[in-house]
Amino acid sequence: MIKEFTPEPLTDFSKEENRKAFEAALELVKSQLGKEYPLIINGEKIFTEKKIVSYNPAKKDEVIGVVSKANQELAEKAIQEAAKKFEEWKRFPAEGRARLLFKAAAILRRRKHEFSATMVYEAGKSWAEADADTAEAIDFMEYYGREMVRLAGPQKVTPLDGETNDLVYIPLGVGIIIPPWNFPLAILVGMTTGAVVSGNTVILKPASATPVIAAKFAELLEEAGIPAGVVNYLPGSGGEVGDYLVEHPLTRFISFTGSREIGLRITEKAAKISPGQKWIKRVIAEMGGKDAILVDHDADLNDAANAIVASAYGFQGQKCSACSRAIVHKDVYDEVLNLVTEKAKALSIGDPVNVKNNFGPVIDKAAFDSINRYIEIGKKEGRLVLGGNSDDSVGYFIEPTIIADVDSKAVIGQEEIFGPVLAVIKAEDFEDGVRIFNDTEYGLTGSLFARSRETIEKGREELHCGNLYFNRKSTGAIVGAHPFGGFNMSGTDSKTGGQDYLLLFMQLKSISEKL
Ligand code: NAP
Repeated sequence: MIKEFTPEPLTDFSKEENRKAFEAALELVKSQLGKEYPLIINGEKIFTEKKIVSYNPAKKDEVIGVVSKANQELAEKAIQEAAKKFEEWKRFPAEGRARLLFKAAAILRRRKHEFSATMVYEAGKSWAEADADTAEAIDFMEYYGREMVRLAGPQKVTPLDGETNDLVYIPLGVGIIIPPWNFPLAILVGMTTGAVVSGNTVILKPASATPVIAAKFAELLEEAGIPAGVVNYLPGSGGEVGDYLVEHPLTRFISFTGSREIGLRITEKAAKISPGQKWIKRVIAEMGGKDAILVDHDADLNDAANAIVASAYGFQGQKCSACSRAIVHKDVYDEVLNLVTEKAKALSIGDPVNVKNNFGPVIDKAAFDSINRYIEIGKKEGRLVLGGNSDDSVGYFIEPTIIADVDSKAVIGQEEIFGPVLAVIKAEDFEDGVRIFNDTEYGLTGSLFARSRETIEKGREELHCGNLYFNRKSTGAIVGAHPFGGFNMSGTDSKTGGQDYLLLFMQLKSISEKL
């Protein structure tokens, strides 16, 4: 009997015993820094000459780990092995595949702080952000396991006299899993295990900035007893190995989460048929956002400001769901701007290894440079109210930055910055606010702060994004409660952590027998 899904509770770090346990995990991970990790193809651990070195973004010379790096030859081997294994794995009982996920979730729960601590070092996450990432990874496995059990059961069809009729979900084949670095555990785990529990075999190409947490998860799957060849862990450069895998004729689907630019590139390449290819490749692409919090004149302004700060600066604004635009009714504009500025000033910047620092570095030099370029553009497009400074002498630190009086059409009002930069935009009235809210090519998350029932009902109808919230922050979707995924250039609306997600990795076979 499987218990009903309930989300994993977050750790209360105000309790001393929890702080002590997390400190011990940080010590453990520290003792592992610099370790070498192989790539894994069909269970075989391969150490290559070429490596990806993972560094700590808060201490840029500190090596987190060294990971073997695949080339096209190894990518070819991985895809051949995955294709062979698929013929077995697709026949493995669905309930057994689900039990594998429950086992992996149980192990991850036992080693929770160790995985979270790894993300503190490798991704620059604060304790709370890292803890939420691990909790979401556990949730994805618990949720998708249950979903697979449901989908493996009888599906509804109209009975006809003289026939038996059945509908059966069957897997697709070999999938390429390409996650981002910003939820280096949760998203990677959700994408990988969703595909695998559905009966597919996969090649997991982690983001090059966070391959160590990915390697640890590959080890965890082995510990949980996953058969060799079901998940092939293949770090490598997106350009070299990514393109090769996407274009391969044995690739049946690509599950991607990352930038708009790479998502569209994959979509285009996957649409082209390679010699020997027997199917139309399926692309699941979850991409960027230019998310907004809209504040109407009658809102609770303190609540709104708290939500804006949490959504704009949680994990340094490096979330696809981050609030990068605050759109505020002109009557309360100055007050909201002041409140947001005061609250953002209270963030504590520094190495997140220290629990008091809730605002860490951005992921790497490329992100640091790109965000700084946007800040320079923003200074010309609006009024710098807070921050704007950065320092990469030790790690990649950028201050929480607020640029006010931004036009909706400005570059920083339209493009995803993926860093701690908030554009504040004035709206003439609620209708103008809705127009600005919808006026980008993205449509991922967003919130409305308002009291009037009429306004809220209008907002439900008119605000166009995949995850819409009222009177709460735009980040922090919970598996099962807030199935997650965006519209327009934010992706294919694949709704992770929802009832439709596994269907993306399966096809439906209708079987009828004349009696
Ligand atoms: P990215 O640069 O697009 O990279 C994502 C993944 O694609 C990485 O594993 C990367 O590998 C790989 N890649 C790069 N070039 C490739 C190619 N030519 N073929 C195949 N794969 C390739 O994105 P990111 O910087 O990691 O992540 C940030 C972006 O993700 C933001 O835009 C954010 O909004 C979005 N995001 C969206 C969601 C959502 O649910 N919608 C969730 C999280 C993040 P390398 O690392 O080796 O380059």
